[in-house]
Amino acid sequence: MINIQQVTKKYGDFTALEGIDVAIDSGEFVAILGPSGCGKTTLLKLLAGFMKPTAGQIEMDGSVVGSRHQLIPPEKRNIGMVFQSFALWPHMTVAEHVEFSLRYHTNSKRLAKKNRIARINDVLTMVGLEQLAQRYPSELSGGQKQRVSLARAIAALPNVLLMDEPLSALDVELRMEMRKEIQSIHRRTNASVVFVTHDQGEALAMADKIIVMNKGKVEQIASPEIIYTKPETEFVAQFVGKCDLVKGSWKGNHFIPEEYLWVRWQDTGVSESLKKKGVYPVRPEQWLLSRDKSEGLRGEVLFAQYQGKEIHYTVQADNGIWTVHTSVYESRFQPGDTVTLTLKTDNEHEQLQ
Ligand code: ADP
Ligand code: MG
Repeated sequence: MINIQQVTKKYGDFTALEGIDVAIDSGEFVAILGPSGCGKTTLLKLLAGFMKPTAGQIEMDGSVVGSRHQLIPPEKRNIGMVFQSFALWPHMTVAEHVEFSLRYHTNSKRLAKKNRIARINDVLTMVGLEQLAQRYPSELSGGQKQRVSLARAIAALPNVLLMDEPLSALDVELRMEMRKEIQSIHRRTNASVVFVTHDQGEALAMADKIIVMNKGKVEQIASPEIIYTKPETEFVAQFVGKCDLVKGSWKGNHFIPEEYLWVRWQDTGVSESLKKKGVYPVRPEQWLLSRDKSEGLRGEVLFAQYQGKEIHYTVQADNGIWTVHTSVYESRFQPGDTVTLTLKTDNEHEQLQ
């Protein structure tokens, strides 16, 4: 439905995006995830039609909407946009924001007044603002303002909803609640959603597909579960969830660490490209801690942080410092305790030295 082909964007000499290839299906919820400055907003602006790519092209519904020579403007693209900063007009009420958007969009411009009022009511009900239709932005909380900007974005029933870090200005609790609301709006509208975030938790929780970006390039495109369990690159492994990387060499399915590391391991969760690089990613929740002095990696607990459902340990071992997350229902350890680390495995495993 949306096809981004070999898209490059330069600002003067600076290359903000390079050779981006992404396909977004109709109705799909896609998260663009990456650190600040990696080019997320630039990609979203190209999708919206605020500017042309320097090279490559963007297709929507089979026709080219953006290339070096061509630019279909935002109001002709059948999109809705939500910004981090809400971008509301101080002199317009909640209902007027939605109405403005309906008048502006090509596919709702000619709605009869009666239908327009009905649509405004529907949309405000969908985002839970029906009681606040006559309020001005200065009379709304942060969460309510973001709901207005959501209502405005979905009012014209766009095929594509573009959201640039829509939750980052909200406090933690509200962010969690709005995650569900956006998912529910996505389900009800059937629009494709392109959701930009630098928050890995948000991307993992909400998206059908995650595009991980770094320095203007795509690192990996896959489902949340594949991104987490089979990262393709060291960047993805370390950016998405906490992950330590062990260097060594692979012999078939056997991993031989460079440094002494006595662990039980399995290779499920290791991508072919990381294998080629001689890297084994270890997630904090993969470690098992015990007092047992037999086989395993010996270490000393430096810190133990209680987190409610987990305990986060920092363990100093001979070969480095490891992060270990255990359930509160497992054995507890104190700073100074000597512990043995082994890797949890769920199916067949080998024991190596
Ligand atoms: P993100 O949204 O991932 O934080 P942006 O797409 O905003 O990243 O920016 C990507 C890079 O392009 C950054 O290094 C930024 O400084 C640069 N950049 C963004 N907009 C402009 C501009 N209008 N002119 C020059 N450089 C820009
Ligand atoms: Mg940005």
